[in-house]
Amino acid sequence: MAGEGIEAAKQGPAQGLRGLDPRVDDGRQPASVLPELVALPELRSAEGAQAPDADGVSETSAHIEQTDAPAVAEAIAEQTPFFSSSQDLLERCWSREELLGNSDEKRAHRSRGSGREPPPPELIARAESLTFMAGCHPARSSLCFIVSGSRPGNATGSIRWVELADPNARLIALTFDLCEQANEVGGYDPDIVNYLRDAGVHATFFAGGKWMRSHPERAKQLLLDPLFEVGNHSWTHGNLRVLKGEAMRDQILWTQAEYLALRDDLAAECAARVGQEAIDRIPPLPSSFRFPYGTCSGESLDAVASYGLAAVQWDIVTADPVHGQGAKAIAGAILTGLKPGRGSIVVMHANGRGWATAKALQQVIPELRHRGYEFVTISTLLRAGAPHAVAECYELRPGDNARYDKSPDHRKGK
Ligand SMILES: [Zn+2]
Repeated sequence: MAGEGIEAAKQGPAQGLRGLDPRVDDGRQPASVLPELVALPELRSAEGAQAPDADGVSETSAHIEQTDAPAVAEAIAEQTPFFSSSQDLLERCWSREELLGNSDEKRAHRSRGSGREPPPPELIARAESLTFMAGCHPARSSLCFIVSGSRPGNATGSIRWVELADPNARLIALTFDLCEQANEVGGYDPDIVNYLRDAGVHATFFAGGKWMRSHPERAKQLLLDPLFEVGNHSWTHGNLRVLKGEAMRDQILWTQAEYLALRDDLAAECAARVGQEAIDRIPPLPSSFRFPYGTCSGESLDAVASYGLAAVQWDIVTADPVHGQGAKAIAGAILTGLKPGRGSIVVMHANGRGWATAKALQQVIPELRHRGYEFVTISTLLRAGAPHAVAECYELRPGDNARYDKSPDHRKGK
């Protein structure tokens, strides 16, 4: 279940929507008729998209050997094309229809027993060794960030925003959580992703490891898309303020391993179609972590850092999983939350529980561009200044998410 940013909804609709065209915002409430966790039709994301035919690799190679120079040049161009947009690149591996998806994918449904199996031991070992090679060591606390140049200085806690090196810069990081608990299969919101692609907006998706396993094609599309970055959102949305020791570390490491598996699959299936460079630009492992429910402990903060992950929270809460939180309120929360010189981090949900999120984006993204804002991924934002980190994890103020520690479902995560 999406738990981030619930508290903020109790504060009522955000104030003011200056600059927004009231003609395009009817202020109506989102599709709150969608049930939260009832038995619903199976998702179509994983099954609906076919992996490309691996035979295409050898066919192309044979073609180069047997033809004249112009044909060779054409074939090489075919293998290393210039992509005018992320859509062009993605359509090398999936059809337009597969990428667009349909609204059925937004729905979560209950599912027992899935996701309890860890990734294969060799994958977990590879994820650990890659972490170690990057200079991190899972057995000790040390800050180590795998994406080159993204070390957030002295940040030793959870990052709320970035104090920009250029105080006149206007950067904003939109983040979308892809949460999936042990007892469900979460959704995927194509309206959000399709709009971001159409508008050319950079964004970061914090994906649960189990969500990636149940949505392999969607996860690979997000990985391959140069607009996007994929961070770690734990395995089954465990409360890492409550979970300890191995159970807590599994939530982090298994997700790293699942990402690695999907990146491997993507390379095997798509490198010949998109060019190796497009694969190489995908980070070998996630470099940032979003704590489920916005809850952490000193132990889990240390563990996240030891796996080379920046703990990234937010300074702008849209409360988009709350029924009744309409597009106008979401857009207003973003616009009123911005501050000069601050690179803000906005938390939203793309697992189908951001009820009015897609509609809000259509309003707020043009307005933000009009105001001169540039949309950046988390790793870009972290490089743009000094991250503001705190020792605790909370929604908007210390202690405001303690309720998640009491619920058995929220405590276990698996
Ligand atoms: Zn979440």
